[in-house]
Amino acid sequence: MEQRDFEARLREVKARAEGNWRTILESIGVEPKVLNKRNQPCPACGGTDRFQYTDKYRHGDYYCRGCGPGDGFRLAEMALGLSFMEAFKQVEAVVGKPVAAAMAGSPAPSAEKMRVLARRIWDEAQPVTAGDEVDRYLTNRGLKMGKYPNVLRFHQGLGYFVKEGGKSKKVGEYPAMLACVQGPDGLAVTLHRTYLQDGRKADLPDVKKLLSSGINGAAVRLFPVAEELAVAEGIEKSLAVHLATGKPVWPALNCGNMEKLWIPESVKRLGIYGDNDADKAYDGQAAAYALARRVKKEARRRGSSIQVDVHIPKAAGDDWEDVWVRRVARTRMAA
Ligand SMILES: [Zn+2]
Repeated sequence: MEQRDFEARLREVKARAEGNWRTILESIGVEPKVLNKRNQPCPACGGTDRFQYTDKYRHGDYYCRGCGPGDGFRLAEMALGLSFMEAFKQVEAVVGKPVAAAMAGSPAPSAEKMRVLARRIWDEAQPVTAGDEVDRYLTNRGLKMGKYPNVLRFHQGLGYFVKEGGKSKKVGEYPAMLACVQGPDGLAVTLHRTYLQDGRKADLPDVKKLLSSGINGAAVRLFPVAEELAVAEGIEKSLAVHLATGKPVWPALNCGNMEKLWIPESVKRLGIYGDNDADKAYDGQAAAYALARRVKKEARRRGSSIQVDVHIPKAAGDDWEDVWVRRVARTRMAA
């Protein structure tokens, strides 16, 4: 990694972590007691009451009369026995990496530029309302709602781009469903777009796109969460699970991100609704159980407990949207 790239990453991670250090440190395994702001033994140099976590400058600050002051990275190093680089990487994994560097050879748009672009697209769009293209699309899939989550929006004509010789070329405009992707700190990381046409997904090679890759644990927070949360892979599957169970559901957007998904510490019951990919390579099941395992381990390290249930549809190739759609069809036939 180039020094310059690293400095940019460090700046980004610091900015995202500011004011969130207690949660971050706990989620990477620092004991809550160390962070209770009371005088106590220092995790590095011992004693009885020489250490105090203050978070004075919102950078995870502490003061120790034995070994001096430091910030959250230093505290993670001391408390967990990590090198600076290890501590940095763990913190980065929690707060999310800067919006991805683009492909090799073409200049990477800066995270800031990407956020400005995401913001502009978001502002051009409107809340989803009855009769618009997003409502038609979701209704056609059996997922109509009286009121849609405000992290979903309808864009009338979003540019569709393809890469050609390293350059992005606009090949058309389509209505689109936008979803705001938020990192653990609540900041919008990027947008997810689903291109639509005539009430269904547009016939395009990349009909679903993230504005940038590498979302690293960020989620579309479709519903507010408290003690209970459910997660599923896609937006449509998540809406299906919500309609079937009434639970708040967050989509992880893809298998890879499901494993890494950030789960708030307030959650005491987690339901993971995975795909049955037994007809392929079991990716859906693997991601669901990997998340379950990680969340369980993190809770144990924190000294708290969480109930985690993994739900996989019975039939190979099924996901929960398939199951929901069949159930609705049966109800309609019965009526
Ligand atoms: Zn000390």
